[in-house]
Amino acid sequence: MEEFDYVIIGAGSAGCVLTNRIINSGKYKVLLIEAGGNDSYPWIHIPVGYYKTMHNPKTDWCYKTEPDETMENVSIPYPRGKTLGGSSSINGLLYIRGQEQDYDIWRQLGNKGWSWREVLPYFIKAEDQERGASEFHGKGGPLAVSDQRITLDILDVFQNAASEVGIPKVDDFNKGDNFGCGYFQVTERNGLRCSAAVGYLNPIKK
Ligand SMILES: Cc1cc2nc3c(=O)[nH]c(=O)nc-3n(C[C@H](O)[C@H](O)[C@H](O)COP(=O)(O)OP(=O)(O)OC[C@H]3O[C@@H](n4cnc5c(N)ncnc54)[C@H](O)[C@@H]3O)c2cc1C
Repeated sequence: MEEFDYVIIGAGSAGCVLTNRIINSGKYKVLLIEAGGNDSYPWIHIPVGYYKTMHNPKTDWCYKTEPDETMENVSIPYPRGKTLGGSSSINGLLYIRGQEQDYDIWRQLGNKGWSWREVLPYFIKAEDQERGASEFHGKGGPLAVSDQRITLDILDVFQNAASEVGIPKVDDFNKGDNFGCGYFQVTERNGLRCSAAVGYLNPIKK
């Protein structure tokens, strides 16, 4: 048995980021353990592939909620990723940060370092933003963020209608204010999913 400084259980979003950061410190040996298989199943990497990876025991734990009598005893499928990248390998790819005030309330509750202004540098550090670097965005980070490749007339019409009733048009949901209507960005690079495994594990696999 080899010896390690850290053992990380689960190669999901958190596990991949932690492993990358600890390994890149250059000081420690890390063992990362994942219950699922590797992420070679092609549908993981094709964005619309979540239709194939959700509810599929190859990549999903296939949990179900307990039947709830307030919902006519229906048991609802509750997907969670079971593969390298964890849920970031089967999720909907939406890249939307939280609302500024939510972080600030966490800080006001006593959580040092969690205000919007304090977490923003970490969002920026993580990001490889297709639109380039700016006050709110980073370029060159492990997590690719891109505009959606498809727009639809019906969605543009919907956005115009929302704007007519006072819901502003938004072209960036990641500046701390989520109110508005527009296209969200996605965690993709060149049309392929950028899971936490792709962004944070692949570069350090050696
Ligand atoms: C279907 C779906 C759609 C989503 N859509 C979006 C979205 O569009 N945008 C967004 O921002 N977020 C979305 N999310 C949420 C986001 O993907 C998750 O919040 C995030 O990936 C969770 O990261 P995590 O590290 O907490 O857990 P996970 O990424 O789930 O990682 C947990 C890992 O631990 C492994 N594991 C569990 N138990 C063990 C064990 N005993 N031994 C070894 N390994 C174990 C699992 O197999 C898994 O790989 C979605 C999630 C799902 C499931």
